[in-house]
Amino acid sequence: NNHDLVVAENLRSSNMLKNHALAMSISDVGWRTFLQKMEYKSALYGRSFITVSPKNTTQMCNDCKFAMGTKGTEKLTLKDREWTCPNCGTFHIRDINASKNILEKGLEKLAKEKEKSLA
Ligand SMILES: [Zn+2]
Repeated sequence: NNHDLVVAENLRSSNMLKNHALAMSISDVGWRTFLQKMEYKSALYGRSFITVSPKNTTQMCNDCKFAMGTKGTEKLTLKDREWTCPNCGTFHIRDINASKNILEKGLEKLAKEKEKSLA
């Protein structure tokens, strides 16, 4: 009720369940059920709730859009909670950087949906 827009990753749980470290927490929480509840509650309060693809939300620097794992760099692993972008030198806290990328994707998706509805 306190937020006009909530954006979440539409997690590919079948892929993530292959990762034993994540399997337990994801199946326990029931991500899909959580997303459904978010959708229901958002509609109830007249808010927007959208999901976006998780592709590159963690690996991409929100400042310069450089993707880790490209140009000879290593992808971030689950252990990398903080990192510095090798392209622009920005220091990132992993989840904060990812949340900015998720919000940006959500806003882009919202803008495209509005364009379509006006056309
Ligand atoms: Zn960067």
